[in-house]
Amino acid sequence: MAFSSIIGQEEAKKRLGSALKGLPGHAYVFVGPDGIGKTLLAREFAKALLCNDPGVDGACGSCTSCRNFTNQVHPDFRNLQLESKDKVIKVERVRQSVSADLNLRPQFGSRKVYLIAADNLNEQGQNALLKSLEEPPDYACFLLTVTSPERLLPTILSRVALISLRRYCPAQIGAILAAQGLGSDGQQSFYARFSGGLGGVAIDLAGSDWFGSLRQDTLKFYQNLSHQSRTALLTAGYQFFDSNRNYTPVILDILGSLVRDQMVFSGLRLKENLTNQDQIAILRKSLPESISPEEARGRLSRAYAALLAARRGLNYNASYEGMICNLLLVLRKEFVNA
Ligand SMILES: [Zn+2]
Repeated sequence: MAFSSIIGQEEAKKRLGSALKGLPGHAYVFVGPDGIGKTLLAREFAKALLCNDPGVDGACGSCTSCRNFTNQVHPDFRNLQLESKDKVIKVERVRQSVSADLNLRPQFGSRKVYLIAADNLNEQGQNALLKSLEEPPDYACFLLTVTSPERLLPTILSRVALISLRRYCPAQIGAILAAQGLGSDGQQSFYARFSGGLGGVAIDLAGSDWFGSLRQDTLKFYQNLSHQSRTALLTAGYQFFDSNRNYTPVILDILGSLVRDQMVFSGLRLKENLTNQDQIAILRKSLPESISPEEARGRLSRAYAALLAARRGLNYNASYEGMICNLLLVLRKEFVNA
């Protein structure tokens, strides 16, 4: 495994490769949304920093250091991630695993690498880390991952090099899924767009045992919207949401993608941006043919706004039943034959 085995992120890989050729810095921050592959690339860079014979493509993969790293027994690699029972990485863990550990020289080679999920550090934790970043020993290298630079204290940001990761294009997501043996050709294009170009999200959804059937059920619900009675919608329709309560954000996202796709047919969006390309028949049929493109645009925009509002409402302690029933009635109004 070297940089070339990671799909995409060419610019970031090139920068890391040049750093390996020269004298790498003491601190790097890998920036990008969840599921973009920050930890994957940071780990590969860590392996290369520890490798006995690294090149522009990263670690050699065969030296003793590389073998230890792959077997997760490298004595000079520290990986500070959130523990499932905690909400943040506790400041004591930063002190123990970083501050106190930093004074011990590497056991194996000439470097020690600390990989830290910095999104999970609060201000206290970041301040504890800052002390180590201010005057690191020559052998220390810090690799932080973070969803956005603003999450870091300015005092930390001023001491690090930023490595920004880019969202994947559909072809790259297709390659990422294919490498994992996931998704047929038609599905890969759906996952590429639905995941918003995030490879990790696409892998999670395509590899899950629930997403495929939830999507089919949501498509059925969507098809029924236009001809279901108000009572049926508030009973069977609500039941669909209630029985999938934990997955409500995903159902809303799937519905949102369908409504956005329908905007293609009313001229609001470009056809190449269709997410549900495998469901054209449903997309064409859902709005009554008798309505004008202007009216269709108005209806779709209102339906989409209602879905977004519901998505936001889930984050507050709104009444679930009240919120979903309200959404169902708004959707029915916009989709039913006028
Ligand atoms: Zn090696």
